Amino acid sequence: MTPSGGPLRKIVHVDMDAFYASVEQRDRPELRGRPVVVGGSPNSRGVVCAASYEARAFGVRSAIPCSQARRLCPQAVFIPPDFRKYSEASRLIHGVFREVTDRIEPLALDEAFLDVTENRLGEPLAGKVAKYLKFRVREVTGLTASAGVGPNKLIAKLASGHRKPDGLVIVPPDAVEAFLAPLPIDALWGVGPATAERLRALGLQTVADLRTRRPEELAAHLGRWGLFLHDQAFGRDERPVETSREPRSRGAETTLATDIRDLDALVELMRHHAEDVAESLRRAGRRARTVTVKVRFSDFATITRSRTPEAPVAEAAELLALGEALLRGVLADDARAIRLVGLSAANLVAEDAPRQLRLPLPELQT
Ligand SMILES: [Mg+2]
Repeated sequence: MTPSGGPLRKIVHVDMDAFYASVEQRDRPELRGRPVVVGGSPNSRGVVCAASYEARAFGVRSAIPCSQARRLCPQAVFIPPDFRKYSEASRLIHGVFREVTDRIEPLALDEAFLDVTENRLGEPLAGKVAKYLKFRVREVTGLTASAGVGPNKLIAKLASGHRKPDGLVIVPPDAVEAFLAPLPIDALWGVGPATAERLRALGLQTVADLRTRRPEELAAHLGRWGLFLHDQAFGRDERPVETSREPRSRGAETTLATDIRDLDALVELMRHHAEDVAESLRRAGRRARTVTVKVRFSDFATITRSRTPEAPVAEAAELLALGEALLRGVLADDARAIRLVGLSAANLVAEDAPRQLRLPLPELQT
């Protein structure tokens, strides 16, 4: 047992480095060493899906408008996303994960948690398991991944992001406090630029600073989410790795670089979510009965709106059409600026399940 009373776990978080951009650089050698931006065209209202490390050096990052990316880095090569390619790489990566364990929780096409407490390698040291995963991912896909090892999902995720690209950071249970203390608050889960600004206004710069505040105080400023933030500051996270052999939902979301209310820009962002979710459904062989849009406002209030179409949906265009309609409703009802938008598909049914028949006789419809 851990000091907090939870089970002792060994968790690895694997996260591909600049995934979409790296796939493009792998497949098009002329792009290697150059700033690459995957996303909308620089003249559209699209947003950046992924930026190569060369582009990041100019301040380009995910979820900023493409027009801004162009200003920051005029020499960048802009490429539209090709989700089929990323999905294929993702399939190979997940094959590598299954060499080690079936206890896998995918977070996106390019990242997942693995519970390696017990593993097929029979390896007691989670750090060695992580090394194996990195080596095999590179061998099979030609791409680099960063890995983080920790006693829970929170620490593993922070560790994988700590030394990108091609990083490996191992945080044993007795090193958790020391690892967390000096991190800037925006390293924590869910703390985007806008939240970080609010926290800094409260005099909080580092995780160590957060520990000096009582949870109720954080909750007063940030709502219930403040309690989770307080737990994070102490490295507490009891959530198990949730395997998704029978996924109940698929989703994607983005925290924006700045709070906005621009419908076109939000829909552009959602277009990428729809592509991502559609790929995920295609791989799982599922269709969705329910489509949900999640919106977090500038004051952290979070709402969801769902719609259940007549027939289950799976195509990106169908998902986007429903998502856009829901988003329009949210913007019409609420004047607050938006800091996070997400799209998810739930109530999944098998792709080959008989479609509900649309019979002409109403009494026969069940
Ligand atoms: Mg990644």
